[in-house]
Amino acid sequence: IHFRREDATDRLIEIAGKFKGEKQEARVEDLAWRDQSAAKRITYALVKGIDAFVEADTEALRQEISARGGRPIEVIEGPLMEGMNVVGDLFGAGKMFLPQVVKSARVMKKAVAYLIPFIEAEKKPGDVASSKGKILMATVKGDVHDIGKNIVGVVLQCNNYDVVDLGVMVAPQKILDAAREHQVDIIGLSGLITPSLDEMVHLAKEMQRQGFTIPLLIGGATTSRAHTSVKIDPAYEGPVVWVKDASRSVPVAAALLSDEQRPKLMAETKAEYDQIRERHANKNQTEKFLTLEKARANRTPIEWKGAHPFRPRMLLQQTHDVCEGHARVKEPVEAERVNASSATPPAPTSLRSGTVSVSHCDHVHHDHGVQYVKTFKDYSLSELREFIDWQPFFISWELKGRFPDLLNNPASGEAARKLYADAQAMLDTAIAEKWIQANGVIGLFPANAVGDDIEVYTDETRTTVKATLRNLRQQAEHRDGVPNRCLGDYVAPKDTGLYDYVGGFAVTTGLGCHEKVAEFKKNNDDYNAILLESLADRLAEAFAERLHQRVRKEFWGHASDERLSNEDLINEKYAGIRPAPGYPACPEHTEKLTLWDLLDAEKNTGITLTESMAMWPGASVSGWYFAHPQSQYFVLGRVNKEQVVDYAQRKGWTLQEAEKWLAPNLGYEPED
Ligand code: SAH
Repeated sequence: IHFRREDATDRLIEIAGKFKGEKQEARVEDLAWRDQSAAKRITYALVKGIDAFVEADTEALRQEISARGGRPIEVIEGPLMEGMNVVGDLFGAGKMFLPQVVKSARVMKKAVAYLIPFIEAEKKPGDVASSKGKILMATVKGDVHDIGKNIVGVVLQCNNYDVVDLGVMVAPQKILDAAREHQVDIIGLSGLITPSLDEMVHLAKEMQRQGFTIPLLIGGATTSRAHTSVKIDPAYEGPVVWVKDASRSVPVAAALLSDEQRPKLMAETKAEYDQIRERHANKNQTEKFLTLEKARANRTPIEWKGAHPFRPRMLLQQTHDVCEGHARVKEPVEAERVNASSATPPAPTSLRSGTVSVSHCDHVHHDHGVQYVKTFKDYSLSELREFIDWQPFFISWELKGRFPDLLNNPASGEAARKLYADAQAMLDTAIAEKWIQANGVIGLFPANAVGDDIEVYTDETRTTVKATLRNLRQQAEHRDGVPNRCLGDYVAPKDTGLYDYVGGFAVTTGLGCHEKVAEFKKNNDDYNAILLESLADRLAEAFAERLHQRVRKEFWGHASDERLSNEDLINEKYAGIRPAPGYPACPEHTEKLTLWDLLDAEKNTGITLTESMAMWPGASVSGWYFAHPQSQYFVLGRVNKEQVVDYAQRKGWTLQEAEKWLAPNLGYEPED
């Protein structure tokens, strides 16, 4: 029964090779492999990721081994481990791809789950598990990042590491207590949003204070080699290593746990981090900032004189209802036509007549019945799937290349096509069986800019400020003619007397997702768990895309004649933007609190905010709407202390609070 490693490797590489160029249709029917021995069937199933027969085959192996006096654990230590080693080797060599590996893991986990009762039943004192090491994984407090962490966990398990996964939003002391309790060899932290960077520094400090010496791995979208070297590494004397992606996690873990390899890895890492730290220190000294006054003077050049901000049709329509009987009230259809020609200068006379009749209403406070927000409960998922941008889906599965070309990539095309087909099939079922619910809310509000900020008013009288959106301005010295942008530039300043607007939205397709994912995980089906999470993320982005389109065409109506393909939408060919708090133009996450207030988002959608301003469920997207045709995304970059002090004042914060929330954008070293 036991075969030597090399034999197994050769045979499985042969199997893998044989299937590489094979047509998909052929494989579906081909069950010839079922005639082989149980050991061969198991290894075949592992490499091909087929879980349909795993319990029967595992039982057959158990009986064979038992018949020659062997123990159930030997099924794992023998054929299963041999098979997984080959999977690991093929993955490391770039001959197998992430979706396939996750499927292999599913086969392994199901086999192990089947064996556990037998192993428990005959356990002898002193039996120890024969893993390569134990790794604790957690997403830090206030963060909900899950997919990447789950993928790393599965890849590590495939390579015979024990993984203790504490899940998401894990408090620091809970991580450290669990590390002690499970006597783990490594702690791996993940995070998606910038406040998590601070959490990681905090945890590193606690590890130092509490006398830990085990390695700390850092990963996740917001993390970087730079932040790890400048902020986290200095806080902890034990090894700290930033891990770029799942495929890197295995060699890094292996090197850290090997007495021969560790010194080399640590020496290389230290040299690299020292260099980054030096560069960072230099940058802090050489970066040039404009004074806030100069930066403000170099605002986005938008000509407001003679401008006619577009009044949202959703509000106009309701005002018409209130002002019933007015002869000069314009029909929405006409308003649409007016705007169709207004991509260039708007048609002034007709617009003015619209404005006059409406402001007449406003002045007599007739719009207090107006609904500024509109909710969408249980939005059609089949409509949303047409708006999916598939590129990020394949990136999250670490499949390289451009969609749809990547489906024909000679190396990874088969894996990509299979994943894509699985995704379509899961979408069909998820939609038919209502696994997840899509809820969203939009709001369109009277607003004007005051300085860099934007005042949102309770109604069209614009006498009462309901909320103020706080914005930051680019402060780096730019080439001549390149403005120092700020989102506030895109809304008409109050002193122009113009009636302008700003919008907001929050959408989720994650309701019900967590429960379904937990169900998959309980069945040892990480593949479908991760697939569903990654699809829910895609649907949330698709929801944001679709609602934004409807806002431009229907609810605000500033681009009612827009005709764009999904590709054009993905490439942002439309007028207006939907910047998201926490993203480069508006990186300060607490602005989500204002957005949540304005939209009553928690009640209207079910999305809550964590203490770090992450949205829960994770498959959620939110942001602001700007309609001005000159509005565009930009990267705020770093700002100097003058602006941080100013921002703190406007937010009603201490300088320390401002420095905490603006940490990734500080152009200086804050005092402790
Ligand atoms: N099609 C992509 C869209 C997501 S990224 C997908 O399905 O994943 C694009 C979104 O990120 C934008 O709509 C906006 O909400 C946000 N975004 C991108 N760049 C931004 C910036 N510089 N500032 C603020 N938000 C930004």
